[in-house]
Amino acid sequence: DITKTIRLNNGVEMPRLGLGVWRAEEGGQVENAVKWALEFGYRSIDTAKVYGNEAGVGKAIRESGVPREELFVTTKVWNDEQGYESTLKAFDNSLRDLQLDYIDLYLIHWPVEGKYNDTWRAMEEIYASGKVKAIGVSNFHAHHLDDLMSHAEIVPVINQIELHPYLNQKELRDYCKDKGIVVEAWSPLGQGKVLENEVLRQIAAKYNKTVAQIILRWDLQHDIVTIPKSVTKSRIIENGSVFDFQLTDEDMAKIDGLNKNERFGANPDTFD
Ligand code: NAD
Repeated sequence: DITKTIRLNNGVEMPRLGLGVWRAEEGGQVENAVKWALEFGYRSIDTAKVYGNEAGVGKAIRESGVPREELFVTTKVWNDEQGYESTLKAFDNSLRDLQLDYIDLYLIHWPVEGKYNDTWRAMEEIYASGKVKAIGVSNFHAHHLDDLMSHAEIVPVINQIELHPYLNQKELRDYCKDKGIVVEAWSPLGQGKVLENEVLRQIAAKYNKTVAQIILRWDLQHDIVTIPKSVTKSRIIENGSVFDFQLTDEDMAKIDGLNKNERFGANPDTFD
């Protein structure tokens, strides 16, 4: 079911599917999306400082009445706050805005050159304090991870990267698996741009599911944590309803074959 978890390399259990809230606005939209998701059974929410909606996420969480220990909240340090001191401060601000006592997963949002190793040192310290249950990265290529791990004491639990059928990241997934780092897909639906694909439509018809559900199921069967975004109640429910069927190996391979290394977001080497 939707509360199914994957074990991270530090022993923490993380839900395999969560709600993404990029571009979900405070003042109603994000609060409702989180509320509907939690009502349906989602237990993981992915936000970030730069999304400007941490307070709204926190408000919806509190009002939901779901016990804190059942929830898994991810947020991220933004590029302009990277570095040792500023990351410590950014983390405290996120805690305050979310109105939480601890965060489940704190991520480096992008590998800001010359800064991410200092950012990581601050995150290791926050982790030691117990105010975050796990620390990880986002948008790291293998070369960024190699560099980080040559300086780090703690191996990241997660690398959250753009990943969908047009950018399946096979090489980086293999690299991360080898290091014990779980891969998490951002823009799993290609921001909606992958949903018209004819092969996916045919597979969806065969299982009597939607294309979005087929893609999310493909993530799960590859042990990829996935965080589809929607602010529409029916879609939030649809995206969470992917635990009652199984894609065959043949259909998994067909979806694997759609890769064309197409990015909808920035390349981590040139995002600045
Ligand atoms: P997504 O791939 O999840 O697509 C979301 C869009 O697809 C929605 O806005 C909607 O238009 C459409 N959609 C959603 N469900 C649908 C359905 N069932 N049927 C039809 N259309 C549907 O895109 P995303 O928001 O870019 O990515 C998901 C989450 O990943 C974000 O909200 C955010 O939390 C995270 N993210 C992280 C980074 C990063 O740098 N770490 C970057 C981008 C996104």
